[in-house]
Amino acid sequence: MANKNNNIVIVFDFDKTIIDVDSDNWVVDELGFTVLFNQLLPTMPWNSLMDRMMKELHDHGKTIEEIKQVLRRIPIHPRVIPAIKSAHALGCELRIVSDANTFFIETITEHLGISEYFSEINTNPSLVDEQGRLRVSPYHDFTKSSHGCSRCPPNMCKGLIIERIQASFAKEGNNKKKMIYLGDGAGDYCPSLKLKGEDYMMPRKNFPVWDLISQNPMLVKATVRDWTDGEAMERILVGIINEIISAEEEEEEKEKMMSSENCKLSVGIVHEPLLPLALQVPLAKSC
Ligand SMILES: [Mg+2]
Ligand SMILES: [Zn+2]
Repeated sequence: MANKNNNIVIVFDFDKTIIDVDSDNWVVDELGFTVLFNQLLPTMPWNSLMDRMMKELHDHGKTIEEIKQVLRRIPIHPRVIPAIKSAHALGCELRIVSDANTFFIETITEHLGISEYFSEINTNPSLVDEQGRLRVSPYHDFTKSSHGCSRCPPNMCKGLIIERIQASFAKEGNNKKKMIYLGDGAGDYCPSLKLKGEDYMMPRKNFPVWDLISQNPMLVKATVRDWTDGEAMERILVGIINEIISAEEEEEEKEKMMSSENCKLSVGIVHEPLLPLALQVPLAKSC
């Protein structure tokens, strides 16, 4: 079964899902800026605060290399990387949807050797400017317009990103695609409401998204399977993928049987002399 593409798209949140902590907090705490961060937090959106904190780090002589070093020792559960590799080897397409930023995520995934497993990373854009300061911008530019979702922070509605991915499936004309979404935070609740009945939602147990889902489980159409740590994530994720693959194979078998039934039926029709040739061709081909 290895490397045969299936119709499963797995969407991972990043902080406290792939890695075991929040990367923003990790950098701020490890470099000794927690007090200032907590002072400023009530005064501005999180995303704007991260850009401000990167200015503070820079003004205090912290270099990009120091930030990278801190990111490279971020805690991750030892079973998360095997889970990602197994899902990829089973033929799933993997994506990241995160409210962190491109610099943090790329630095970490490259260091862990898992960057090539992801086909798409949706997150806040970032760049290192001429002064060597990391700039973090909002994924959605809320200074120009609101994304219109009241559940989500102004810079990013993950639900809208899920809807865009779903629309891309529809554009491809593929109605067999199934999504598995993994997340922990309140920001992962909006996308969980966008998932369809054939999708799977994997909320991290006792984390904000799990609490929100538990308050009214009927609102989530997808099958919900919670997980606690990287070990449970691996077991449950691989379990769901194998369930979907065997259901797909059963479906294919059924379709094959149906078409061979059609084939038997069509034999009689093909030999019907009054049938126009144009009709005979596709029927004969299906045998
Ligand atoms: Mg998270
Ligand atoms: Zn939203």
